[in-house]
Amino acid sequence: MALVIKEECVLCTVCESECPNGAISRGDDAYMIDSTLCTECAGFYDQPQCAAVCPVDCISTPADAKPQDGIYQKFLRLVS
Ligand code: SF4
Ligand code: SF4
Repeated sequence: MALVIKEECVLCTVCESECPNGAISRGDDAYMIDSTLCTECAGFYDQPQCAAVCPVDCISTPADAKPQDGIYQKFLRLVS
């Protein structure tokens, strides 16, 4: 699973440099997370860094997210 950025994003830029996977980039109206790169920070930190720094709390796990056992395997694929 990957986190998502909601429309409340105020384009403050803070989250982009926090991502260890380079998964965050600026869109037209909000920053975006590339779901193929986001590991929820597994392998680097014990909590999602982008969500931790967002001043308006607009980064979260999708409401329909299911627990995913393979997130660490995703991290290993990305770094291999
Ligand atoms: S949860 Fe971690 S890996 Fe995913 S976008 Fe945020 S900072 Fe990047
Ligand atoms: S930290 Fe939050 S408000 Fe700032 S750019 Fe990232 S998602 Fe948008």
